[in-house]
Amino acid sequence: MNPREIREDFPIFQERENLTYLDNAATSQKPEKVIQAIQDFYRKNNSNVGRGLYELANDATQEYRRARKTVADFINASTNEIVFVRNTTEAENLLAHSLDFEGDIVLSEMAHHSEQLPWRRKAEKEDKKLKYLETENGRISVDSVKEKIDEDTGLVAVSHISNVFGAENPIEEIVELAHEHNALVVLDAAQSAPHKILDVKSLDIDFMCFSGHKMLGPSNIGVLYGRRNLLQDMRPYQVGGGMIKSVQKDSVEYADAPEKFEAGTENVAGAVGMAAAIEYLEEVGLENIYQHDKELAGMMIEGLEEIDGVEVLSPNDASLVSFTADWAHPHDIAEVLNQHGVAVRAGNHCAQPQMEELGITGTTRASPYLYNTEEDVEKFLDAVKEVKETFDV
Ligand code: PMP
Repeated sequence: MNPREIREDFPIFQERENLTYLDNAATSQKPEKVIQAIQDFYRKNNSNVGRGLYELANDATQEYRRARKTVADFINASTNEIVFVRNTTEAENLLAHSLDFEGDIVLSEMAHHSEQLPWRRKAEKEDKKLKYLETENGRISVDSVKEKIDEDTGLVAVSHISNVFGAENPIEEIVELAHEHNALVVLDAAQSAPHKILDVKSLDIDFMCFSGHKMLGPSNIGVLYGRRNLLQDMRPYQVGGGMIKSVQKDSVEYADAPEKFEAGTENVAGAVGMAAAIEYLEEVGLENIYQHDKELAGMMIEGLEEIDGVEVLSPNDASLVSFTADWAHPHDIAEVLNQHGVAVRAGNHCAQPQMEELGITGTTRASPYLYNTEEDVEKFLDAVKEVKETFDV
């Protein structure tokens, strides 16, 4: 894998030659192939899907189905287990609205708000107890998994890789214990799908949510994976066109999953773009990408640890780095980095309860991806050193 060559596939780096883009955990840039696939859809195949009887409508429907198949193959699922949604946030909201289960809810204190709030609202509405798995060195603590998941647990919702720390959580232990107690597991894969091969069968999870925009695809297209039998039993989220078998004045019969959960005109171009993104990632090879991202994150961690007053919160094997410095606020660091053309994220990363637990208001986060190079890392570290010189007087 050659990041310098890969970079050439991404028009934004030709448009903005001095950009060092290290905010990939927020969203990724798009290769020409994805932009082209979306354009091609609108130029050649655009029509509403699943409804029209003419050739163009049929072609558009085939494109949409092909996109669903690409996503299904990507995670080793069946096409009827793939629901297209807007993003991870919508997938979590859909589930929390539509899934009935007995028992309490276990979340983690590191959970992104979009993973946390839908389940908190459900707990409040349905009078379910909530428990939080604790964080230890940037990961969900295995001890707290053993302590919190028990016979009262009905559902466990956790992130595969945290967007704050960038490290893999102990999913195997979580799934095993949850299933021992007949609890369901929802995996937020927003940060893992861009970097890792995800096989829902070997992960043995019940539901999984991820977003296209973080993995080279367009915005406003994401995926909810659900085991076939579980999706079939769930009530619809939104109701309207395209999700029914029949409607009479006094009764309605809904379509099967996944159509049951895709009311209204779908984001067909988005799905086509997401499929093109998956094909691109697979051509480069996800193992290569993950290794590359961890190497660059590791170099950043090493470099940051040599700077006085910096505290790195990410473990050494993380695929991104979150840090604080006792000489500047994260927003100031990000602002000065911006003046050097380095784009990073600063703030609470939509994980305020985790920040509260750590006793901080936020961190600075640098998240590399397949088009970042060692020069990007050097530029980032040099810029951080300059921030220190400016602020640490
Ligand atoms: N979960 C995690 C772990 C994330 O990092 C994010 C995005 N920062 C989300 C959920 C929400 O993703 P989206 O905004 O695409 O819905």
